Amino acid sequence: MKYFVLLVIIAGVIWWLRTKRNDTDKPQDPSSQTQNPQTMLRCTHCDVHFPQTDAVQGAMGVYCSAAHRSAREG
Ligand SMILES: [Zn+2]
Repeated sequence: MKYFVLLVIIAGVIWWLRTKRNDTDKPQDPSSQTQNPQTMLRCTHCDVHFPQTDAVQGAMGVYCSAAHRSAREG
């Protein structure tokens, strides 16, 4: 009976450590997912790198801003 109680305590500690590790992993995943897949593009006009979300699509390529698109493509 003494060993059974000890076994339950050890199993409880292992379960607690696993759930604790899962709790710390979960908040890290969304932040790493939003940072890593962010595609960087190069401006056709000034060669500066910028995130794909800020891209301005032009006929000759992508640009960092609408001003550079109009400067290159008129
Ligand atoms: Zn530019």
